[in-house]
Amino acid sequence: MSHVAIVGCGVVGATLAYELSQVPGLTITVLDTKPPAQGATGAALGVLMGVISHKVKGKAWQMRQSSIQRYETLIPELEALTGRKIPFNRQGILMLCLEDDLLASWSELVQIRLEQNWHLEIWDAAQIGANCPQLNLEKITAAVYSPQDRQVDPTALTLALVEAAKLNGVSFQFGVTVLGVGSKTSDGVCKQIQTTAGAIDLDWLVMAAGLGSSPLTKSFGQLVDIRPVLGQALHLRLEHPLGRPDFQPVITGNDVHIVPVGRGDYWVGATVEFPSDGYEVIQDESLLAKVREDAIAFCPALADATVVRSWSGLRPRPEGRPAPIIGNLPGYNNILLATGHYRNGVLLAPATAQAIRDAILGINT
Ligand SMILES: Cc1cc2nc3c(=O)[nH]c(=O)nc-3n(C[C@H](O)[C@H](O)[C@H](O)COP(=O)(O)OP(=O)(O)OC[C@H]3O[C@@H](n4cnc5c(N)ncnc54)[C@H](O)[C@@H]3O)c2cc1C
Repeated sequence: MSHVAIVGCGVVGATLAYELSQVPGLTITVLDTKPPAQGATGAALGVLMGVISHKVKGKAWQMRQSSIQRYETLIPELEALTGRKIPFNRQGILMLCLEDDLLASWSELVQIRLEQNWHLEIWDAAQIGANCPQLNLEKITAAVYSPQDRQVDPTALTLALVEAAKLNGVSFQFGVTVLGVGSKTSDGVCKQIQTTAGAIDLDWLVMAAGLGSSPLTKSFGQLVDIRPVLGQALHLRLEHPLGRPDFQPVITGNDVHIVPVGRGDYWVGATVEFPSDGYEVIQDESLLAKVREDAIAFCPALADATVVRSWSGLRPRPEGRPAPIIGNLPGYNNILLATGHYRNGVLLAPATAQAIRDAILGINT
């Protein structure tokens, strides 16, 4: 039996735990300072922009494609195993083209996706009006509809993953912080880690610690620089759903998402706020007000909505390198990084788990 310890129980760590729990011969422990889904995951909107993203080749597209495919089986699998309902919107994503958006690049993407066996549609004003009468057609020139993209409730998903992983024998230790390396061999194998609950022996360590990966990797003598990008969002409530009650896709325009979460409730967000000094972000309320204004500009009925709550979270963004970071921690043969997912951690969690599973099994992809 190989012992795999996973640091972090956000959506990435929880997906890893569940997917690895199906690999024979592994015992798995997940460690987190906090309860599940309290980091970036608890703030996320869960929009899964796979087919509609502009990534068309290489790893960036492969990861999106395999994640979108895995979600179709993962959600029913988890619901059957746990008896939990995971809110999963199968009505797609509608991306609005505002005045200066280039339709030509969208037409090109539609063609590429067709060749890749995926489906995108370009809608004119008449189609937008018929399908989404809540939208203000003065502001919108066209739209791209992606019926195969999805949205999932990130917290409900993470809690279901934890429960399913537990049923498969994974052990979870919440309230435990990983502090650093306990012992390491001369050929770069970490045999033991130190935690606030004592030492733990292991064969593999997977760091899925989001923003906590920076201090953690530093304590292992190999700093991986991951910095926060703040996002604020709103929960709005209307008496009735917007537009057609039977057609409630995620609507996105000008980088603002309107996410239907049931019976006239919508999440709206999110701001993208960078740190001024590298690490500290000062929340700017006016940017959240601007997100709300943008949403109202293309969907005027939202002006009548009441604000149920607002929240914020910190996205883990790798400094000076692309997101996410998946692979070996330099200097160690048995420590894997699954971190720095920035704006797409919910989307990319399944593909991340597949990559880590392959690394542990020694499969080259
Ligand atoms: C407002 C907002 C909206 C977003 N919307 C989307 C979206 O629509 N779609 C999408 O795909 N993504 C979205 N994201 C991004 C997404 O939230 C992140 O990419 C994702 O949650 C990262 O998951 P994670 O598991 O890596 O990190 P986290 O959820 O941050 O989890 C890391 C965990 O590690 C634990 N930890 C850290 N250090 C230690 C240690 N030393 N010992 C023990 N435990 C430790 C922490 O306590 C934490 O629980 C959004 C983010 C924000 C803020």
